[in-house]
Amino acid sequence: MHDKPTFLTRPYLPPLEAFLPYLREIWDSRWLTNAGPFHEKFEEALRKYLGVPHVCLFANGTLALMTALQALRITGEVITTPYTFVATTHALLWNGIKPVFVDIRRDTCNLDETLIESAITARTTAILPVHCYGNPCASQRLQQISDTYGLKLIYDAAHAFGVSVDGRSLLEQGDLAVLSFHATKVFNTFEGGAIVCHDAKLKQRIDYLKNFGFADEVTVVAPGINGKMSEFQAALGLLQLQHVDLAISARLAIDRRYRQALANVPGVQCLASAEGVSPNGGYFPLLIGAAYPLSRDQLYETLRRHGIHVRRYFYPLISNLPMYRGMASAGPANLPVATRTAEQVLCLPIYPDLDAKTVDRVINIVSSPC
Ligand SMILES: *Cc1c(COP(=O)(O)O)cnc(C)c1O
Repeated sequence: MHDKPTFLTRPYLPPLEAFLPYLREIWDSRWLTNAGPFHEKFEEALRKYLGVPHVCLFANGTLALMTALQALRITGEVITTPYTFVATTHALLWNGIKPVFVDIRRDTCNLDETLIESAITARTTAILPVHCYGNPCASQRLQQISDTYGLKLIYDAAHAFGVSVDGRSLLEQGDLAVLSFHATKVFNTFEGGAIVCHDAKLKQRIDYLKNFGFADEVTVVAPGINGKMSEFQAALGLLQLQHVDLAISARLAIDRRYRQALANVPGVQCLASAEGVSPNGGYFPLLIGAAYPLSRDQLYETLRRHGIHVRRYFYPLISNLPMYRGMASAGPANLPVATRTAEQVLCLPIYPDLDAKTVDRVINIVSSPC
């Protein structure tokens, strides 16, 4: 059998020795947080790496999402997807905003752009789409709709680190894009996050908001929050950036291996990357259909018995959770594709140092589960 269990992901870390000089610098300077030298260096390095105009660093992605909504003064209703991590819509509730759920497309698992207009009301102020698994949203159409109806467009880009379409970063799209550097993501600073924005004035407002609203020692311009990234996180981020390209290519090699080996397994569908997309290998979702000999949950249990702890991202749907399910847009009849996808999805283990032997074991179990 197996010795150690395999999990969906294993955080990527640099060799500890490489981090020690960074730590020594922090210890010597005693500058631990509040826009210290590592914060400033990491922000600039990240801006360059991502090829975006402005980056605002945060303690985590959820605070970044909450602050993004504050920065654009979003109120009323926001159109979003039920097929995402709970933080997306929790950030709306924490701001007193009502999420309005719209169904997803089967091919990308992203908001179905053809259904958005019919969900717009007089109270709608923004659209909050997610690039699910790093799959690009139908951004051109989403931008058109936002322009036509005067809505803000904020992307939850927590899965989209390093993803580009025709050579351009996904993070350039919309009014704001929000990243997460949580331990489980493609790029991590233990906890961390960022907002990408396009003009210096908005960056200034976001930077005030993440620091209690302080504009200077004696001036508080808004009821801000504490969303600041510490020097420890920023130093780690600076070091992690040196390794992230290698980490992504290792992920993509595993993606290709799974894709090839599982292409002809009846009842198993892998989501394909669209033309022109340079993906990041963050997730490897399968959809388990009726032609497969086991149900999705039976396959989940079978893999677990073999020590492979996979996850059903995203099941249950957010719209089925107690704090959302009473809403008119949350009914399964309004969300048939998301509902079916949540019942069929299973994400396989994928991370940079996942060994080929384990990948093959996963492939063997999925290919012949009985
Ligand atoms: C991880 C994640 C978040 C939350 O980020 P944290 O850094 O963990 O707060 C938000 N949205 C999505 C889609 C995520 O996957």
